[in-house]
Amino acid sequence: MIEKRATVTGWGLYPSEENTILSGKNLEKELGLYSDVTPRGLGRSYADQAMNGRGYVVPFTDRKRFLAFDERSGSLECEAGVALYDIIQTLGPRGFFPMITPGTKFVTVGGAIANDVHGKAHHVDGSFKNCVESFDILLASGKVVTASRKKHSELFHANFGGLGLLGLILRARIKLRKIETTYFKQQSFKARNLDEMLDLIDEKDREFPYSVAWVNPLARGKSLGKGVLTAGDHAGIEDLSASLKKEPLKVTGMPGLNVPFFMPGFALNGLTLRILNGVINYVQSHAGQFSHYDSFFYPLDAINNWNRGYGKRGFTQYQFVVPVEGARLTIRKILEEIGTGGCKPFLNVLKKFGKGTDYLSFPAPGYTFAIDFPISRKLFPFLKRLDALVLDAGGRIYAGKDATLDAQSFASMYSQLEDWKKIKRKYDPQNMFQSDIGRRLGLV
Ligand SMILES: Cc1cc2nc3c(=O)[nH]c(=O)nc-3n(C[C@H](O)[C@H](O)[C@H](O)COP(=O)(O)OP(=O)(O)OC[C@H]3O[C@@H](n4cnc5c(N)ncnc54)[C@H](O)[C@@H]3O)c2cc1C
Repeated sequence: MIEKRATVTGWGLYPSEENTILSGKNLEKELGLYSDVTPRGLGRSYADQAMNGRGYVVPFTDRKRFLAFDERSGSLECEAGVALYDIIQTLGPRGFFPMITPGTKFVTVGGAIANDVHGKAHHVDGSFKNCVESFDILLASGKVVTASRKKHSELFHANFGGLGLLGLILRARIKLRKIETTYFKQQSFKARNLDEMLDLIDEKDREFPYSVAWVNPLARGKSLGKGVLTAGDHAGIEDLSASLKKEPLKVTGMPGLNVPFFMPGFALNGLTLRILNGVINYVQSHAGQFSHYDSFFYPLDAINNWNRGYGKRGFTQYQFVVPVEGARLTIRKILEEIGTGGCKPFLNVLKKFGKGTDYLSFPAPGYTFAIDFPISRKLFPFLKRLDALVLDAGGRIYAGKDATLDAQSFASMYSQLEDWKKIKRKYDPQNMFQSDIGRRLGLV
């Protein structure tokens, strides 16, 4: 095995530290010689989810072979380092698309399982678990087992949201969606305030399988919560214009645009904030009738290294979900806190989740709100105040993005934590799989 020291961060560039990176051709045989290891995918989690300042980080991105594909059922067997991007590039032109996708295609199948990622269609399709048939996982014992809903079922379920702490996922069998085109029909709807926005989401979620809203974080008073909801569905061939019909399953390559250096901190001022939110408002309200999957699902992927735009200190994305009952009041309070808290609110997403699953998987019925804040001294006490509001409302924070939550709050938010820990002790009694977030949230 090769050991190399390198500076490692999550996508939010905070925290940042030196880690020992472990690689080798014979991982399955030799990983057992090490303790305190953290699997890592494409590092698209925002903070310390795939970091380990004390032990070893094991990148799995070079394990990206497609092993089998059944065109009739859409079932793909692949190595866990395959990215959704690879799946789209290879199988998009053959009429298949990931069943469940987050807001970036640069995530590995292993990472998508470990965070049980969700997308714009959660209210209809649920989280990533719903498209996973089974996976092979290298356990602390050195054994590789296949986990599914029938075999090692508790291990199967506990891995979704398990943050890579139960073993190294080597391969997975996932269901893809059959599509006629890689385009989407979409509509946008304006809301003048929070009540209108939540009513709109409730109404349009009954009509459309995909929906996501943006709230203007600078709106105050009667306009608090105003924004734009975009909802859509897959476009069939018949829906497309003559020119789009020429290549209905078009896929696009890597983005051409790049943020070549870190933006200086002073660039993140009130003016940039107003300009950015003005641009988002315009783009969302004037979205065309048809959208290619890249702009429909992955608008941020269009610019490489866009995270550098937040400057060297980095940023965090704070995402919570609160139950429907009482949600209006809680979201209002949180938006008011954001308005007065002195921390600059950048990109955000508001959506309603459908049914959740179990153990440490984040999505639960209710409204979820995700919002970026650049790192600043004020941010830490500010997020503590938001944590308290979320907790008070019976809600929870998404561990896949979190940078600041403490173990006690996490335990109060995830009622099945103790059951999950029993499974952890059963499959990894010596705590071979650990990570910075695992220690921070009291999971190991
Ligand atoms: C622009 C952007 C948009 C996003 N939108 C969404 C969204 O809409 N919904 C959502 O849910 N998330 C979203 N995310 C978060 C992202 O989808 C998740 O953090 C995802 O898990 C990242 O996958 P990764 O391959 O980069 O894994 P990493 O970030 O490298 O690792 C994530 C976790 O997976 C574990 N892991 C990785 N590989 C393996 C493996 N082979 N075996 C076991 N464990 C493993 C790691 O230990 C770590 O705990 C977004 C992120 C970005 C940057």
